[in-house]
Amino acid sequence: MNTDCLVVLAEKLNIKYSVNESMALHTSFKIGGKADLMLYPETEEQLCEILSLSNNENIPTFILGKGSNLLVSDKGIEGAVISTLAMQKITLIGDTEIKAEAGASLANLCRVARDNSLTGLEFAYGIPGTVGGALFMNAGAYGGDMSMVVKSASSITRDINIINRSIDEMSLGYRKSIYDQNSEIITSVTFSLKKGEKSQISEGMETFMQKRKKSQPLEYPSAGSTFKRPEGYYAAALIDECELKGTAVGGAEVSTKHAGFVINKDNATCNDVLSLIEKIKKTVKEKRGVNLDTEVIHIGR
Ligand SMILES: Cc1cc2nc3c(=O)[nH]c(=O)nc-3n(C[C@H](O)[C@H](O)[C@H](O)COP(=O)(O)OP(=O)(O)OC[C@H]3O[C@@H](n4cnc5c(N)ncnc54)[C@H](O)[C@@H]3O)c2cc1C
Repeated sequence: MNTDCLVVLAEKLNIKYSVNESMALHTSFKIGGKADLMLYPETEEQLCEILSLSNNENIPTFILGKGSNLLVSDKGIEGAVISTLAMQKITLIGDTEIKAEAGASLANLCRVARDNSLTGLEFAYGIPGTVGGALFMNAGAYGGDMSMVVKSASSITRDINIINRSIDEMSLGYRKSIYDQNSEIITSVTFSLKKGEKSQISEGMETFMQKRKKSQPLEYPSAGSTFKRPEGYYAAALIDECELKGTAVGGAEVSTKHAGFVINKDNATCNDVLSLIEKIKKTVKEKRGVNLDTEVIHIGR
């Protein structure tokens, strides 16, 4: 797709960009063909300019954080991918609040909380996403999720208005939020935390990290848990009970360490992963009568 007008805008506003950018370089799965254009706005205003021009010229846009929950088509993405990774500021507000731009990593956010003796975010330390991606997904682990620590967030609506939502206007549920329904783009999030003991916060973060290292196949590219937790079950347990650990299609494999993870074992393509996902769903439905829904988001041409 022709995205020349966005390139002209990027040069005028000094926004970094690259054309025909491989998405495999920007996803934790290390899978995906090329995006026509990738842009790295540094401010909300630059983001608004990009969205406004894209709207006028009918160029599809996709917002990318760290790509840690994405399965991108082998044929890539049409239009403009807007990375939030040039927007990473994290600011302490008063004694117990932190404001983070959408592209800040959860790991850095957790470190800032710890350094200021603020507790509440320990669960998020090992989730390899950005603040924006985490709110979009209502990411969570070990009994915590974003809904427990977020106070409010700024976002840009599709008709280019900057608005602020408080937590009760975000419809946060299990791995879902209003943002996956209304296509708003999160630009910053304010967290409300509690004063705590720095050494205990550190210990909590480290404990959760060690649990991950022990149970998850972090040595292989993946997008984390492939499936959502079906009501009353655990996806990984169901997959394990169906003896699917180690099942492979092409270079994609059900991890032998954690059945809930599909890993990119050996140069897997998007189609390998999709075929394996279908195989898992079919087997679990046949053997256990449970429908699995993917948590990983499949996008692209
Ligand atoms: C090894 C591993 C472990 C993981 N463990 C966990 C876990 O414990 N818990 C958990 O919940 N997840 C986990 N994940 C999944 C993933 O890290 C989270 O879903 C994370 O929140 C995604 O953030 P991201 O920045 O990578 O988003 P991306 O993958 O880049 O994007 C995900 C979705 O969010 C949208 N999005 C991103 N930024 C914005 C924004 N600023 N505004 C609007 N929409 C936006 C994207 O358009 C896309 O639809 C894991 C992944 C891996 C690889």
